[in-house]
Amino acid sequence: PVFKETYSPLSSSELVAKEKSMMDENRFAHCVRVSETARTLAKLNGYDEDKAALAGFVHDYAKQIPVEEYIKVIKEEGFDPDLLNWNRAIWHGIVGSWFIKRDLGITDPEILTAVYRHTTGDVEMTTMDQIVFVADYIEPGRTFAGVEEARKTSYADLASGVGYELAHTLAFLVQKRSKIYPRTLAAYNVWAAE
Ligand code: GDP
Ligand code: FE
Ligand code: FE
Ligand code: FE
Repeated sequence: PVFKETYSPLSSSELVAKEKSMMDENRFAHCVRVSETARTLAKLNGYDEDKAALAGFVHDYAKQIPVEEYIKVIKEEGFDPDLLNWNRAIWHGIVGSWFIKRDLGITDPEILTAVYRHTTGDVEMTTMDQIVFVADYIEPGRTFAGVEEARKTSYADLASGVGYELAHTLAFLVQKRSKIYPRTLAAYNVWAAE
């Protein structure tokens, strides 16, 4: 992929190479598909397509950074110590935005916030936040039961896609008896509950 060189001091090829160096091939291919899906959703919703494509590309930049490095950054960089009670599934968005700023030099708040919110969602979500959150869920590599309905709903109405994703993610987590991150629950109450 090629990205507009507006949001990072790195060239597009440097940025792509850096991202590739951080993850395995499957994760990289997922990031490329999320980028393309984010571009489509941006076009449908009147948002800057190049910017959404970049945010989608970097959204999982930090997904495979070692746990020990996360713990060190959470302790030393002023993050809420409660994050230490969670794991990399929760960290890679919230703390991932910090790694993206450090390593890729991206400072644009809309991009950083979309990465921050991409796993849990949030009570307040901008158009960009919704685009990345939904693109991650419906990209063409996803195969879970209900993904076709998620796509149909999201392409018809982005906010409804957010609600669908939160309801189904919450049901999935409950069924596994996973702990629910409070922000995920708060987001569900705003975007999905009747
Ligand atoms: P990925 O990075 O492309 O795999 O996708 P996400 O960043 O959206 O999600 C990563 C994982 O976090 C998924 O397996 C979600 O089900 C999980 N997740 C989302 N919200 C919560 C939560 O509140 N609690 C827990 N335990 N996991 C969650
Ligand atoms: Fe993710
Ligand atoms: Fe997601
Ligand atoms: Fe992802």
